[in-house]
Amino acid sequence: MTRIFSGIKPTGHLTLGNYLGALRQWVAADQRPDEALFCVVDLHALTVEHDPARVRRLSRQVATLFLASGLDPDKCTLFMQSHVDEHTRLSYLLECTATDGEMRRMIQYKEKSARAQASGEGVRLSLLTYPVLMAADILAYGTEEVPVGEDQRQHVELARDLAVRFNQRYGQTFTVPKATLPDVAARVMDLQEPTSKMGKSGGPGPGVVFMLDEPGVIRKKVMRAVTDSGDGGVVYDREARPGVANLLDVLAACTGGDPAALAEGYSGYGALKRDVADAVVELLRPVQERHAELAAEPAAVEKVLRVGAGRARDLARPIVDRAYRAIGL
Ligand code: ADP
Repeated sequence: MTRIFSGIKPTGHLTLGNYLGALRQWVAADQRPDEALFCVVDLHALTVEHDPARVRRLSRQVATLFLASGLDPDKCTLFMQSHVDEHTRLSYLLECTATDGEMRRMIQYKEKSARAQASGEGVRLSLLTYPVLMAADILAYGTEEVPVGEDQRQHVELARDLAVRFNQRYGQTFTVPKATLPDVAARVMDLQEPTSKMGKSGGPGPGVVFMLDEPGVIRKKVMRAVTDSGDGGVVYDREARPGVANLLDVLAACTGGDPAALAEGYSGYGALKRDVADAVVELLRPVQERHAELAAEPAAVEKVLRVGAGRARDLARPIVDRAYRAIGL
């Protein structure tokens, strides 16, 4: 039995990157309620300027998309982070073991704090401590594996470091987790800027495919994807030809093929884009249909979250209580 934990923050509409990099691998994990926990990490949505009503609405939408993607609440624990106090209880203890320098080295902090500063918003302290709360999310459940996309690898490394440090200093308390990355599509790139990841938090850019985009919108975005300059044909080269490589990665992730082998079947970008658009539309179609059904039953989604929070609390409390005793409280 392997304990798995992962989460998505409700900072925007979920993207194809969230689906391929996270949700789809979660569904593939062999699950039992006491071993796989998936969380809408709503506290993490407060680290930058936010609209309360939007965060609340998106939190429910993300939970609904968990279910629509095929996560079965009888087979895994689905819940909202803010419903389980153990996350913040543990986060404070971990803040007492982490250092300021460690936090400032985090790549996401550097990028997001620079953006917040540039917009005149000011950098919230919680943006700096965000990886500690994420470590608490993971360590509170005795998590062994954290299925995430490439962009989260550094944060999971930090959770490992904090677990090892705590155990060495205060006695064996935490399981040391590790990140697990998908074989393909660990990093889906923006269709207009293929050197940046496709992210929900940056707003509705034309290079971002959202899970709930209508088929016509998906097709338009894919057909307008930037391909690379020069006429080297369709080859798979992530360094030299990031735009084409991204399309091939997405196609491979949708169809199960190998991106380099798929490239050999195309002589032009147009046919490749049409196939990618078709594959993405077909991949998302059943998820969108199920989402429409579930969105009509918000009370059922709330119930899933309530039951999930109860289970999560029962799992986390003894671990967090043990940490409190170990550190001297
Ligand atoms: P975002 O970066 O879209 O705000 P989160 O930080 O909430 O998303 O990440 C949720 C999960 O989705 C994480 O496991 C993350 O690695 C994964 N993920 C996000 N964007 C991508 C992407 N473009 N490609 C692959 N995985 C991604």
